[in-house]
Amino acid sequence: MIRCRDVHKAYRLGGTRVAALRGVDLEIEGPGFFGVTGASGSGKSTLLHLLGALDTPDRGEIEIAGERVDRLRERELTRFRRRGVGVVFQQFNLLPTLTARQNVELPALLAGESESWAKGRADELLGALGLGTRGGHRPDALSGGEQQRVAIARALLFAPPVLLADEPTGALDSRTSATLWSLLASLARERSMTVVMVTHEPAAAAQCQQVYVLADGRVAGRFDTGGMDAAGVATRAAGMVRA
Ligand code: ADP
Ligand code: MG
Repeated sequence: MIRCRDVHKAYRLGGTRVAALRGVDLEIEGPGFFGVTGASGSGKSTLLHLLGALDTPDRGEIEIAGERVDRLRERELTRFRRRGVGVVFQQFNLLPTLTARQNVELPALLAGESESWAKGRADELLGALGLGTRGGHRPDALSGGEQQRVAIARALLFAPPVLLADEPTGALDSRTSATLWSLLASLARERSMTVVMVTHEPAAAAQCQQVYVLADGRVAGRFDTGGMDAAGVATRAAGMVRA
């Protein structure tokens, strides 16, 4: 479902070159709820951006649902970003002047869908995510957890097979975080999606069925979490980084 082969990515920072990914090999066989963890700076966000085709690798291959996304041209790129993946971030990225419903509708309208389709789909998704009574509220009238659920609704607009989340609970308290992890797990289960969550938090990674550990821009290993708690996940991941 998601495959990376020898993926490299460096950033130019002033005169220096920062290698963020240095040969990532990865195979995620979805559907399911998967985690990518690792220390700050290990390359997690860079990898997620490449999987979402928000950026391109310097070299290597990235395949998502049978499609090579590292070599898409402009028009296919637009389609893939809309319909192939949904992406959510720590900071929600909602437009503050629009209501929750309008935030969800916007990508549909930009894509040329009818207003009635956009409204129907937005209401359906907001309802499914427990926000049925919140559609008319602006982001600043919503809690952090609600804002993130609006962002998830927006990401699900075109029913993509893959949902990517970069530290989605990084700005939320622990109880709200736990609710959100359950939501992501249930999306994977009930909508047969492949959900990939990037996180540096062991408690978050423990909610995923399988965890990939990044260290210095490479995959240091992966393991199934079956029955592990946060401490167990932290110990296991640390062992892979040292090995
Ligand atoms: P993580 O999400 O695991 O914290 P990142 O993928 O954000 O890691 O970063 C990996 C490495 O790439 C780090 O050394 C970081 O400083 C560097 N990096 C990330 N984004 C940029 C950028 N836009 N410009 C320069 N360096 C960057
Ligand atoms: Mg990051």
